[in-house]
Amino acid sequence: MIIVIGAGQAGLAAGRELRLAGHDVLLLEAHARVGESWRRRWDSLRLFTPARLSSLPGLPLPGGDRYPGKDEVAEYLQDYATHFELPIQLDTSVTQLLRAPDGTFEVVTDRGILTADGVVVATGPFQRPHVPDLPLPPEIVTLHSASYRNPGQLPDGRVLVVGGGNSGMQIAAELSASRPVTLALGKRQPVLPQRFLGLDLFVWLQAVGIVRAPATGRIGRLIRERDPLIGVGPGELRRLGVRIVDRIVTAEGDELRTASGHRVTPSVVIWATGYRPDYGWMHIPGALVNGVPLHTAGISPVPGLTYVGLPFQRNRGSALLGWVGHDAALVAQSYMTDLRSKIG
Ligand SMILES: Cc1cc2nc3c(=O)[nH]c(=O)nc-3n(C[C@H](O)[C@H](O)[C@H](O)COP(=O)(O)OP(=O)(O)OC[C@H]3O[C@@H](n4cnc5c(N)ncnc54)[C@H](O)[C@@H]3O)c2cc1C
Repeated sequence: MIIVIGAGQAGLAAGRELRLAGHDVLLLEAHARVGESWRRRWDSLRLFTPARLSSLPGLPLPGGDRYPGKDEVAEYLQDYATHFELPIQLDTSVTQLLRAPDGTFEVVTDRGILTADGVVVATGPFQRPHVPDLPLPPEIVTLHSASYRNPGQLPDGRVLVVGGGNSGMQIAAELSASRPVTLALGKRQPVLPQRFLGLDLFVWLQAVGIVRAPATGRIGRLIRERDPLIGVGPGELRRLGVRIVDRIVTAEGDELRTASGHRVTPSVVIWATGYRPDYGWMHIPGALVNGVPLHTAGISPVPGLTYVGLPFQRNRGSALLGWVGHDAALVAQSYMTDLRSKIG
C-alpha cells in the first residue's frame, strides 16, 4: 500500500495517479474536510489563475476565464475526491514517519500506526507561519496573514502590513478601503499584470514555456529569485492611499522603525512574512537536508519516499492547481519503476 500524507490538491492528484496505476492507496488528511487549507484563507481571496487553467487532471474546475473564489476551489477539491472515489481518512494527523529495517514505512498518526510500502508527502508548501522576532507591546494587535479573514475582524486604527509578497499586497489593498494602511516592503519584486492584451498572464506564461521551465535552469532560477507579484503592486497600493515604507528593523514601545528611519505607530500589525518548512515529524535518515526534503523532481533518495506540491519541485507550476498533476504523474510512475525493479 502507498500512503499519501495530505489531501490538498497535491495529495488528491497523487492519489488519483497512483490508483490509475493500480496501486492500493490511502490518503491521510489532518483536517475534517477536504479543501480546508483553501477555506481558511481570507474571505475575498480569488485565484490568480483563471478557472480554465486551474483544473486537476481528469475533472475541469468550472468557470472558464473567471477567477474562482477560495471556497469554490475547496468545493472543487471535495468534488474531485468524491468523483474519483479516493480513499481518504480524514481527521488524521501524521505525527511521525519512520522506516523499518525491511524498507517499509511506519506512519504514526494520532489515530494509530499504519504500515506502507511507499509514502507520498503532500503536506503543502505553507507549513509554519513565520513571524519575525520583534517585541511588540500587548496593545498592538498582531496576527499572521494565515489568520487574516476580513477587515471586520480587526479593531479600528492604522494597520501595518509587513511583507510585500502577493498576500501582503492583497491584504493591504483590501484594508485600505476602511482604514489607514502602511505596507513595509523588504525587497522590491517585479509586478506582472493579471491580464495583458486581453489574455490572462498565465496563458502567456504557459505559451512561452515559463510555467514549466525547469527550476534548475536559467529562467526557472530567475523566476524563483525575483518571485513576481501578480496584479497588485506598490504603484496600485499608492493609488489606494497606502503608505509604503522599507523593511521594519526595530520596535520600541508602540513605535516600529524601518531601516531608513521611517516610524510607524500602528494599532494592528499583520505579518505577511511567509512560512517556514516543518518536516520535524520525518525521522528518516537521508530524507532531509537542513530540515528540507532532499529530492530530484519529487523523488527522494530513500526508496519509496516521494513528494508532490513542493514549491519549485520541478518548476513554477509544481505548486499550482493547473500543473501539479504533471508532477503527480511522474511520482506515480516512479512507484511502477520501483515495482518493476523488485520483480525483475
Ligand atoms: C493566498 C494564496 C493564493 C493562491 N492562489 C493560487 C492560485 O490562484 N492558483 C494556483 O494554482 N495556486 C494558488 N496558490 C498556491 C497553491 O495552489 C496552494 O497553496 C495550494 O493550497 C497548495 O496545495 P497543496 O495540496 O500542495 O497543499 P495544501 O493545500 O496546504 O494541502 C496540504 C494538506 O496536507 C494536510 N496535512 C499537512 N500536514 C499533515 C500531516 N502531518 N498529517 C496529515 N495531513 C497533513 C493539510 O491539512 C492540508 O489539507 C495560492 C496560495 C496561497 C497561499
